[in-house]
Amino acid sequence: MSDKKFLSRRQFLERAALLGAAAVGAGSLLTACDPPEPQVDEPDEPAEPTADTDDFSCNDEAALADLNEDEIGRREAHEYTDQTTTEGQTCDNCLHWEDPAAGEQCGGCAVLPGPFHPDGWCNLWAPAA
Ligand code: SF4
Repeated sequence: MSDKKFLSRRQFLERAALLGAAAVGAGSLLTACDPPEPQVDEPDEPAEPTADTDDFSCNDEAALADLNEDEIGRREAHEYTDQTTTEGQTCDNCLHWEDPAAGEQCGGCAVLPGPFHPDGWCNLWAPAA
């Protein structure tokens, strides 16, 4: 009795083809198991700056409802704005500033009529003593 220890050429080629197919299949499986790409959240767009600070206005239609045209004209003539663009000069550090009444956000002014924003400004600004 003799054992065949060698493969025939045909058997060798069949087994080689099977091993090759198995290697390709394993590669596909490994690829399918790759962890997903981490998702990077894009930062939110910065909020657009608004003309008024602190979400309230002392210069809109509602705030000026009690003023007449002449009084509104005086505010405009002195370039009043709710948001200063002049570094270091705001209504609340102005000589003419009057603190808001209890429960109010807008203050007053000794030289112009109407409500004024603490961060506001006009061309009559003068440093507080
Ligand atoms: S004078 Fe002008 S800057 Fe000064 S408190 Fe009055 S509005 Fe504001």
